[in-house]
Amino acid sequence: MNDTPKVTTFCTKQAKPSEPRPSREEAERAIRTLLLWAGDDPAREGLRDTPARVARAYEDWFSGYDEDPEEFLKRTFEEVEGYDDMIVLKDIRFESHCEHHLAPIIGRVHVGYLPNNKVVGISKLARVVEAYARRLQVQEKMNAQIAHCIQHVLEPKGVAVVIEATHQCMTTRGVHKTGVSMVTSAMHGEFRKNPLTRREFLSVIGNPASSVDG
Ligand SMILES: [Zn+2]
Repeated sequence: MNDTPKVTTFCTKQAKPSEPRPSREEAERAIRTLLLWAGDDPAREGLRDTPARVARAYEDWFSGYDEDPEEFLKRTFEEVEGYDDMIVLKDIRFESHCEHHLAPIIGRVHVGYLPNNKVVGISKLARVVEAYARRLQVQEKMNAQIAHCIQHVLEPKGVAVVIEATHQCMTTRGVHKTGVSMVTSAMHGEFRKNPLTRREFLSVIGNPASSVDG
């Protein structure tokens, strides 16, 4: 949790794994092993196609490894008639998976930035969120990655990213706490320096947690 990942790795694709990617067949065999480990019979009718289905689901859930979020932000607009006020995209729903239990993390991301001549299409911000969410994640890491990526590529006067999410590894196992959501935030530039700017952003997104306003 205290590890601060290096900025230089944020906007690039995921680093190459240390081992070669297994074949689809090997992946399906591994899922079959997990079914046996759970205590069931992978040969019974209901489970026969499960390894193939899970492999396909993985391709969807983890498609972010094949994406480079930096690319989404490269096309910008400069003709904004001098607009230099805050731009906020709130309630970007995301589904991710925790890297410790492979359990879903479901929540919303709020992104704000103060443009420095360059403005990006709003759907692109959502695509940046998606690219990071569709990987194995830790909420704090994902939060930092999104903020650094926007700061690094758009070079705005400031970026703010707040994430509210529930972690199913917490609600369905372990402490079994429901209704708990975790709020994290990353503020750069003006959002970090200027409490008024930060407060304005937090009020636009509905003040998810007063503790964020430090
Ligand atoms: Zn977990």
